[in-house]
Amino acid sequence: MIVMKFGGTSIKTVDDIHRIISIILRHRDEMPVVVISAFARVTNNLEKIARLAGEKQTNDAHTISRELFNKHEQIARTLLSKERKKIFTTEADKYIYQLNQLIDGLSLVGEITPRTIDQFSSYGERLSSLLFTLILQEQAIPAELIGVERYLYTTNDFSRAVPIFDEVEENMQSTFQPVLSRGSIPVTPGFIGVTKRGIWTTMGRESSDYTATLIGAYLQAKEVQLWKEVEGIRSADPEILPDTIPVERLSYSEALELANLGAKVLHPRTIIPVIDQGIPIRVLSSRHQSSGQTFITAESVATGVKSVTYKKDIALIRISSPYQANGDINLSNINQYIRSLPFDMHMTLQVGSETVVLIDAKYITEDILSSLKRYGEIDYISDAALVGIVGENIGTTPDYGVQFAEALKGIPKGVLLSGASSRSVCAVVPDSEALKLVGKLHERYFLTHQTKY
Ligand code: ASP
Ligand code: MG
Repeated sequence: MIVMKFGGTSIKTVDDIHRIISIILRHRDEMPVVVISAFARVTNNLEKIARLAGEKQTNDAHTISRELFNKHEQIARTLLSKERKKIFTTEADKYIYQLNQLIDGLSLVGEITPRTIDQFSSYGERLSSLLFTLILQEQAIPAELIGVERYLYTTNDFSRAVPIFDEVEENMQSTFQPVLSRGSIPVTPGFIGVTKRGIWTTMGRESSDYTATLIGAYLQAKEVQLWKEVEGIRSADPEILPDTIPVERLSYSEALELANLGAKVLHPRTIIPVIDQGIPIRVLSSRHQSSGQTFITAESVATGVKSVTYKKDIALIRISSPYQANGDINLSNINQYIRSLPFDMHMTLQVGSETVVLIDAKYITEDILSSLKRYGEIDYISDAALVGIVGENIGTTPDYGVQFAEALKGIPKGVLLSGASSRSVCAVVPDSEALKLVGKLHERYFLTHQTKY
């Protein structure tokens, strides 16, 4: 069998749905499991509804919620017969009722927590997966909806929930296999899960790719296909550069590095489930099927830079103290403090008398800065971005560090971070300089190979 995941941004119109159905039909013989995320912009809107409700702007929240349901209803009206439309509407009416109650409840409490946001967000995938299953059935394609409440139990770390792996594996086998054996296509929502007590959770924005690779790993798929709007993984983010090219091959480690350094096309957790069994991932575009696609496997094919990454809203904190080098300040104390903070670091580096910490800028607080002062003098840049080049072994091939340093010339306060990872070289630069740097590096490695600075 194979897993086919279809992403939200690629599902905007009835035409998009037809296109996706024809893609699924082409792969019919390979026994696809279909993972579907919320339709375009739905998750954003659900989060917005929650925010508005939390700010007591209930009218606006109800308006957006009505629009959101109308959009689904409209697709249902266009593509479903009367009977199936009724099945959809009956369920959707229940959801509308619940969502309205959530809006009113939240506006009374006035406090938005990750747990509440997850209850709102869950409706996107619940609606899209139900509607999509009915549309397949309408076309006489045997499809069965498998709700996550039947298999995807997670921890209660809302908005970044982690699957309870052993149980999920067992449950997946008992829920998906019989459907596949019947010759039906299982359809399931990505991104969402449930706690053991039946509360909706989500595994982080864009994590329906992760649902797909989990299913792929536990059902031993031949391949996991991630069908997106963009044409495969590109040599840089196509939203910031006009002339990117597709990256045809990536290793798991390169893809992981890309995701961690900010490539939005992949959720960082996506790769992990398939590594042990070496299940390949293919990133494809449903809209431009013949242009770019990326094939991700264990091996690294071809050397050199595969992609240039960019992540904004980063802060770099530098802690320097002569006592660090002396060993009088125990580095593990700094590490321990940093690890005690309730969010993830992008990177910490310690060399000689300095420690450099990279975090999302939004997490910097006076508290953190003054705590860090215990360990030395503090200097920080907050409007910063992380720019990197990714490829197997480039971090350990000094030439790349040198070339990157060349590209950094003239950028004030640019900090080169080279040698810490074998698969990347990166730098933190003021955000105002970042896109120029991305363009320069992209040109160096992908456009004119002769370009010298
Ligand atoms: N619908 C969710 C989101 O927009 C999950 C996903 O698209 O992967 O983040
Ligand atoms: Mg999405």
